Parts: sequence; C-alpha cells; structure tokens
Amino acid sequence: MITGRGIDKVKADAQEKGDLGLVAETSRSSQRTMFTPAKLTVPAVFSKLRDIAGMSGNSAMAKKIEKIKGMFVACRQCEARYLIRSLGGKLRIGLAEQSVLTALGNAVFRTPPGQDFPPEVLDAGKGLGADSLKKKMEECALIIKSTYCECPSYDAIIPALIKYGIQELPNHCKLTPGVPLKPMLAHPTKGVSEVFKRFDEADFTCEYKYDGERAQIHILENGDVHIYSRNSENNTSKYPDIIARIPKVKADTVTSCVIDSEAVAWDAEKKQIQPFQVLSHRKRKDADASNIKIQVCVYAFDLLYLNGKSLVKEPFRKRRELLHSSFREVEGEFVFAKSMISSNTDEIAEFLDDSIKGNCEGLMVKTLDVDATYEIAKRSHNWLKLKKDYLDGVGDTLDLLVMGGFLGTGKRTGRYGGFLLACYDEENEEFQSICKIGTGFTDASLETHASFFKDHVTEKPKPYYRYDSSVEPDHWFDAVQVWEVKCADLSISPTHMAAAGIVDPEKGISLRFPRFLRIRDDKKPEEATSASQVAELYKNQQQIQNQQKSEKEEVEDFY
Ligand code: ATP
Repeated sequence: MITGRGIDKVKADAQEKGDLGLVAETSRSSQRTMFTPAKLTVPAVFSKLRDIAGMSGNSAMAKKIEKIKGMFVACRQCEARYLIRSLGGKLRIGLAEQSVLTALGNAVFRTPPGQDFPPEVLDAGKGLGADSLKKKMEECALIIKSTYCECPSYDAIIPALIKYGIQELPNHCKLTPGVPLKPMLAHPTKGVSEVFKRFDEADFTCEYKYDGERAQIHILENGDVHIYSRNSENNTSKYPDIIARIPKVKADTVTSCVIDSEAVAWDAEKKQIQPFQVLSHRKRKDADASNIKIQVCVYAFDLLYLNGKSLVKEPFRKRRELLHSSFREVEGEFVFAKSMISSNTDEIAEFLDDSIKGNCEGLMVKTLDVDATYEIAKRSHNWLKLKKDYLDGVGDTLDLLVMGGFLGTGKRTGRYGGFLLACYDEENEEFQSICKIGTGFTDASLETHASFFKDHVTEKPKPYYRYDSSVEPDHWFDAVQVWEVKCADLSISPTHMAAAGIVDPEKGISLRFPRFLRIRDDKKPEEATSASQVAELYKNQQQIQNQQKSEKEEVEDFY
C-alpha cells in the first residue's frame, strides 16, 4: 500500500468511518515520502480522471491504480479526501446537482457571458426589485435545468451558454440519440383516491409497472443502438439480444429514435414474466448473445425522439400513439406496456390486481394531455405509482365485525357511505375498533348492506364494543355480520383499539387503506380475526419491511 497501511487496517477503518475519503485523508498523514511531489492542479487532476474513465481492457485495473497512486501521493491537506470521494462518485459537500444548475442560471442572468465588463461593473440584476429579480433568475435556472434534462452534459452546455447565451441555449443543446437523457420518475401514492386528488380533472392512463430494469433504447441515424440504464450508465454491451431484435420490431419509417422501456426477465417456456431478482443475475457487461441464459422482454412505454425530432414537449397521448405506430410487438421480445384508460375506482383496483397476478409491481399512472410532457424540470405532476404494497401489503386478509355505519353523502346519500369495523379480543371478550372502511363497495353491495343493517340498528353501542368517541358512527349495529377485508398495512393508531396493550402499552392498531372484499356468512362474530392475530400481523409486517429494505439495499449496491 502507498500509505504503508495494510489492507485489513484500511478496510476496518472504512467500516468504522463509513467514508473512504476520510480514511484516505488520515492514512495520508501517517505517510512519509522521500521527496515532495509537485502540487496537484485542477486541470491535471481532471485530465487524469478522464483518462481513468476511458481505460478498458485487460490491464486497465493496474493502469488505473497507477494513476490513482500518482495523484494520491501528491495530495496535500484535505485533498486526499476529495480525490477519493470524486473517484467514488460522491463528493459530500452539500451541493446537489440542482443547486449547481440554479447557481448557473443565476450567474448567467446577472452577468451574461460575453460582456466586456467585469461582473462588479455590470450586473443585469441591478435596479430590479427583489421579486422581479427572483423571477428572472428562476426563468434562467429553468432553461438550464430543462436543457440539462435533455442533454445532461456540462461539456456541451457551458460552451453553448458562453457562445450563444441563455435564451439560445435550448436550440444548441438538444436531445440527441446517443446521449442518455434524465429519466422521468414516479411519486408513490397511497391509493386510487389519491390519484384522483392529484390529477384533479385531468385524463390519465394506468400502465403495468414492470419489475425489471429501465432501458432507454437509442437508435442512431447510422443504425447503431445504445441502451442506457436509469442512471444513464451505458448498458449496451449487457443487451446484445435486445439490439439484435430491433430491426424486426422497428417500422421501416424509423430512422432514429429514443424509446423508454423496462427490460424484464422472461420465462420463454412458460411465457411469463420472472421476478426482478432473476434479471439481477444476468451478466452486466460484454454479454455474449449466443450464450445468454436469462432472456429479457422489452416492455416499451414511451417514445421521446423520432426521426430527428424531440418529442419531449409532446403530450403523452401523442407520444404513445407514435410509439405504437412506429414499432410492432413480438411476444416475449418487444411489447408495449399493458395499459388502460378508466376513471372508475373499482376498474383501476382490478387492473392493479391483474398487474400483480402478472408478476408486476403495480401500476404507473400518467396524465395523457394536461401536464403530460416529458419535460421533467417543468412538470408539476410526475408519474404516480400505485404499488401492491400499498393495497396488498398484508399477505392475509382480515375478517372483521361490522360495528356501525356512517350515513352516506353525495352519491351515497340514503345509504351508508362507510362503516366501523372491529376485531375480537378473546381475552377481554370485546370487539375492538380497527378501522373505518369506505372502499371496495359497488353500488349494489352498498344497497345490500343498507337493507341488511336496517334491521340491526341499536340505540346504543353494545357494552362489549371498545372504541374511541372520535370514530363514533351515526348508527350502531348488533354484532351480526363479519366482512373479509384487505388492507395496505397496519399501523399504531391513536384512535383505534385493536390489540391495545399488546404491541403498544396503550395504543391500538389500525388498518391503512382497508378495502371491502366480501361478506363472510360462514363466520360468527366471535370468529372474527382476533386481537392477538392482529398483533401478529403487525409484527410480521415490520419484519418483512425490514427484510425487504435490506434486500433492496443489496440489489442497489450491486449496481
Ligand atoms: P421503487 O423503489 O418504488 O421500485 P423505482 O426504483 O422502480 O421505485 P420509480 O420512480 O418509483 O422507481 O418508478 C419508475 C420506474 O418504474 C422506472 O424507472 C421504470 O424502471 C419502472 N417502470 C416499470 N414499468 C413502467 C411503466 N409502465 N412506465 C414507467 N416506468 C415503469
């Protein structure tokens, strides 16, 4: 080792400090050299880092180590910390990319490039009120951010900014096949009702959320095909099989394009999607097309560029039409993401269930016309994701007693709009409230419940009902009917009483996003899910969540 410290010591130190940069810095201070190497300069370090990035082939690793050693011994004071962090890709200086882009926007507005006077003499912000100055600077920052999303390269943006100025920048740094653009990402939602709330009146579509790896497929004018990952890494050599199938799926009219898609592991015999973990076993680089064991199918969901023209400013409806008319599907190789358009809650919930049955993660929900461009920096609404964990996170369903009903409003006037449900605590022989429920009912089932419970309304709650006054229903019912209910997860609740005292000394447990499945005529009220089962479900869920988290972290580390 250049520092004179053993690898075990360095590893132990890295484990303890959690930052190789700090380890490098402290290792350096114990180092003695015969003579002092020349000081590092920014251009020299930059050019060496570029050399390292470009090295490939057999002895690349040894050459890279040599270069790093050369720089490392020349580091002074805290330089080693930042050099090593740069190599690791995380500088940790509290400056995120968005701040850099904003700062650039502010700078080019106040001191436009190309002026003859020094900044302290010429400031375009002089004389403007605080509000208009802020607005102007934000406008410039937005131009830079939008440009950066389509063309994420400072090497291209800075020279163009200096040469043409901010307003002309988008005309000179455009989306180009061969240069990966920033991918649109998704926001989690907690249920179909949140989708409606977020998208307001806008038309939207739901698509299966495939569980594989993002593949941005670029077809260049010269016929070359490049594939980039979600993080803009070049995955071209990982997918020779995808590249080979492009000619047969592409219409003859397509001369260049950028497709957004998910590459998913595919079982060709059973003709079905395989779990994400299968894909992660595929060779990551330089795969040999004739020796590929894990097949992938491309699920295409967007088209961002076609025949020399960027489509990012077009609404999704148009982009999708162009995608469908420019490519043809081949089963197990290249197909369009399964989609549907509906604003009916139950239809969407059913589509979500189908997606899970088809080995997908849930749904992606996307606006079609309003706020539906692929301009990431400009959009106020992102895509929304509706995952099975939110609706189906608890492996099992629960069977719960209906304690009471809330009178309906709007479309549900004259019937019950919601109900209070309970589990059964065997020890105290009482029913304990666990949630309010208002989802999963059809008009017909609401009608059925209303007519059934009208004969079971009681003036007062039963003495063996345990509930908090804040969840008191309009009508109390006799303990007569059990329903099967699905939920997203269970959480500790300040208001509900289920399993109170088992998991938490005082508080109970409640269900999040409960959904009515069916009446359980075959169960007596006392056969409802018990308080101890509820506590068990809650504990298992915590364990599964922790386990999933660590599995996910492992997978992410792998990339
Ligand atoms: P999570 O951690 O929730 O799995 P994620 O890493 O999948 O999140 P998100 O932004 O939540 O990232 O979801 C978007 C991702 O979903 C995309 O990067 C893409 O890989 C994947 N995906 C699968 N199907 C689709 C689809 N139909 N439309 C868009 N993205 C899709």
